Amino acid sequence: MSVSERAVAVSSTVGGRAHPTAAHFDVVNPATGEVFATAPDASVADVDAAVRAAAEAYPSWRSDARTRREVLNAASDALLAALDEIVPILTAEQGKPLAESAREVRTMALFFRYYADMELPREVLRDDESAYVQLVRRPLGPVAVIAPWNFPLTLAGAKVAPALSAGNTVVLKPSPFTPLSSLKVGEVLREVMPAGVLNVISGGSEAGAAMTTHPLIRKISFTGSIATGKAIAAAAAADLKRTTLELGGNDPVIVLEDADPVRVAEGVFPRAFSNTGQVCVAPKRVYAHESLRPALVEALAELARKAKVGDGSLAGTELGPVNNRPQLERVAELVDDAVRHGATVAAGGKAIDGRGYFYQPTILTDLGDGVRIVDEEQFGPALPVIGYRDLDDAVARANATHFGLGSSVWGEDVERAAAVAERLEAGMTWVNTHTASSLDEPFAGVKWSGIGVESGRWGLKGFTEFHLIHQAR
Ligand code: NAD
Repeated sequence: MSVSERAVAVSSTVGGRAHPTAAHFDVVNPATGEVFATAPDASVADVDAAVRAAAEAYPSWRSDARTRREVLNAASDALLAALDEIVPILTAEQGKPLAESAREVRTMALFFRYYADMELPREVLRDDESAYVQLVRRPLGPVAVIAPWNFPLTLAGAKVAPALSAGNTVVLKPSPFTPLSSLKVGEVLREVMPAGVLNVISGGSEAGAAMTTHPLIRKISFTGSIATGKAIAAAAAADLKRTTLELGGNDPVIVLEDADPVRVAEGVFPRAFSNTGQVCVAPKRVYAHESLRPALVEALAELARKAKVGDGSLAGTELGPVNNRPQLERVAELVDDAVRHGATVAAGGKAIDGRGYFYQPTILTDLGDGVRIVDEEQFGPALPVIGYRDLDDAVARANATHFGLGSSVWGEDVERAAAVAERLEAGMTWVNTHTASSLDEPFAGVKWSGIGVESGRWGLKGFTEFHLIHQAR
């Protein structure tokens, strides 16, 4: 019996214990479209209890770096030990293949290990006859971590681990579409964390808003849509809470005329369609030089037709369903709109009949800027390929947007491609790859794609404030 066929019971973690809530909401398996579990629906009072638990745990947690190191390492071990319990839950609620869910759990564990031993440097700015001046970093206090549904554990790990390592305590709220894996993580980590250090609750926008307006929360670390990011920035402003906002993207890919279209397709396709296209930093619009556009479209379409779409819990599945019905409807709406505006469907173009939220991997061409699927973030398995003749024009079109997360340039002349990369307005630009990141590289968007930086030492600093100590001599 798979996880999706039996009830999954997981509870909130508040103050190191299971926390009962009066209300629950349904969780749907996107591969079947059916409810398979319920999750606790945190009320404003439940949020308050979680934040108060975090505030109570804060003084001793911030003052004991050695315990923090030990606990974060133990958390990493505990997650890996519970991998087989967490993975099927994540696949059942999110839809992704089991191997991808396992990768998420491992990445979360890696974040705990990585930040366990990272020290906050104490900088000596001046040491002379008149003064000894040091710059030290301090934690902020209880932190609200709010995550989206595409990578519930990876993205929570990128925030929770550095927040705790720096000495803050945390209240984590996953998306209501994918609450169970994070609640399960909360249960697993109850065994290794001091009470109140990590509190995990589930609920929707009301619970999220209660977190962002709570007077004891000192920082909000959010990953999600631009619209919610703006609402959170406004809520934070009233109390000058610090924020890190990792928001939506509409990554352009520029394919130069000297590129090999088959190699580009083999590089772009897996990155555009990984996680069924539900990746903030995936290629989302391809600008291909007109001389190679037809060959590139055909190579991409062939890969799209071959991709194995199915239930993530079944062996051999490469692409799972879209996570939820509203998102499936949005992808269908954007593809239909493009077709109405004259786009050619080179592969896919429709939802897949039957149960679940499946959509054919779709390649569109013969369309340009001004069509919604080019201008907006589709966040699903459909990729538009737009032709260009003049490189300056392609760069201008790539930059003519409020988005600024990732981007890439592809070409055989790497120096030239790198020079074009410098002209793109994005937090991250890759040459002959896309979405390549590692724990020690910073991850950040510019313009409306984000404020603040995650990963690496920048991720740790983001959960601190500076404190200057000037000793007169
Ligand atoms: P969303 O903004 O709808 O929801 C994200 C989270 O915010 C959920 O937990 C939700 O319950 C909560 N929330 C909703 N309203 C709130 C409010 N008023 N106050 C506080 N919390 C609130 O986003 P989503 O649909 O879950 O995720 C998809 C989006 O996330 C896409 O735009 C994607 O590009 C973006 N994303 C960005 C990154 C990045 O690192 N830049 C990574 C992954 C996803």
